[in-house]
Amino acid sequence: MPPPAHGPRIAIVGGGIGGLAVGAFLRRAGLTATVHEQAAALTEVGAGIIMAPNAVRLLRRLGLMDRFLRRAVALEWGWEFRRWADGRVLSVERLSGVCEKLYGERTYVTHRADLLDTLRSAVPGAWVRLGARCTGVEARPDGALLRFGDGGAVEADVVIGADGVHSVVRNTVAEPAPPTYSGLCAFRAVVPARAAPEFALRPAQTLWLGPGRHFVHYPIAGGSAVNVVGIAPAGDYTVESWNATATSEEFGAEFAGWDPRVRDLIAAGGTPGRWALLDRAPLRHWSRGRITLLGDAAHPMFPFFAQGAAQSIEDAAVLARCLAASPDEPEPALKRYELARIERTARLQHLSHARRDINHLPDGVDQQARDAALAASDPLVGNGWIYGHDAEEALGGS
Ligand SMILES: Cc1cc2nc3c(=O)[nH]c(=O)nc-3n(C[C@H](O)[C@H](O)[C@H](O)COP(=O)(O)OP(=O)(O)OC[C@H]3O[C@@H](n4cnc5c(N)ncnc54)[C@H](O)[C@@H]3O)c2cc1C
Repeated sequence: MPPPAHGPRIAIVGGGIGGLAVGAFLRRAGLTATVHEQAAALTEVGAGIIMAPNAVRLLRRLGLMDRFLRRAVALEWGWEFRRWADGRVLSVERLSGVCEKLYGERTYVTHRADLLDTLRSAVPGAWVRLGARCTGVEARPDGALLRFGDGGAVEADVVIGADGVHSVVRNTVAEPAPPTYSGLCAFRAVVPARAAPEFALRPAQTLWLGPGRHFVHYPIAGGSAVNVVGIAPAGDYTVESWNATATSEEFGAEFAGWDPRVRDLIAAGGTPGRWALLDRAPLRHWSRGRITLLGDAAHPMFPFFAQGAAQSIEDAAVLARCLAASPDEPEPALKRYELARIERTARLQHLSHARRDINHLPDGVDQQARDAALAASDPLVGNGWIYGHDAEEALGGS
């Protein structure tokens, strides 16, 4: 492992979207780091992801847009809400021309692996240590000691826990709080374009709302595939993992009786992944001494605003700036980072939580009121506080 050329020895635990993003921003800031990733290779699951303007403007600052745009699809329509039974459009955001005008960037959809690949291109290969499963972090007066599954240990001046929803680093920083089970799960599949109905290949993020469930799809991988996600009751299923699977029949049964276009997409998707949605209250603090958290390790959220990864990229930009502003005093830098980020991410955690009930209303008076409200609203404008946010600018001078 190469020693840092200068500045603090920064250990990043986790080489996912957040871990690589902070590596890229640290590099831009002239600092060095080591990324300890448990997997044998830097890979992402087969699934799509939405990148809203608040994240895209940060990818641009990293000089990554050319690479990102090789495979990302620019959305023409976002949050296109449709009724479950017949596909009637309840409301739609017209993004083309408008999004860029309002927020300076467009909204894109892409494959997670393509996004990870883009971020990886901004992190020197020599910084990444694969097959390194962190088993615990011990706080020390001037840093921390990281222990690994192979029995090894590494000293660091600063530790960034970007190790996702089941974070090990979080155990050192915050009181362990068991997650509560939401009773929902996310089925997901990637459908090759040749097997997908023409309708699903439009550059649109479409959400079908129905009783107790909703269904989302959009094209990814340069339009060569369609990402499909169905949020549905999970029964007693509680496994929160990208590797868990269900059967196509189980997925299909949850959406029986829905518009045939939804059922066709599910049938074309092959074996779906299944992720149980667990609920966690926002942490009150996520830094302790020279150890901090980032991304899902700090603020896991339901995927209903499509902002989890975007927030981890915002975290990354802010954390790198704070550390670069006072590399010799990491503790206040980490506090400043936390202070800059915690309120915004907690708000998104709460809002994502609440959306679950709104999206899943049974047919009736409340559902009709919701649909009328959707028709009257413009999420692109209403969510300006999300999309218009410039995480670096918001931090102020440094
Ligand atoms: C169904 C679904 C759809 C979503 N859609 C969107 C979307 O459209 N837009 C969006 O912005 N967000 C979306 N999200 C949220 C997004 O996936 C997460 O917020 C994002 O992946 C968080 O990134 P992260 O780097 O913090 O964590 P992760 O992506 O979980 O990465 C953590 C990394 O740490 C590694 N790791 C874990 N433990 C250890 C250890 N002990 N030692 C070493 N390495 C370790 C893992 O192998 C992994 O590489 C969605 C989530 C779900 C479940």
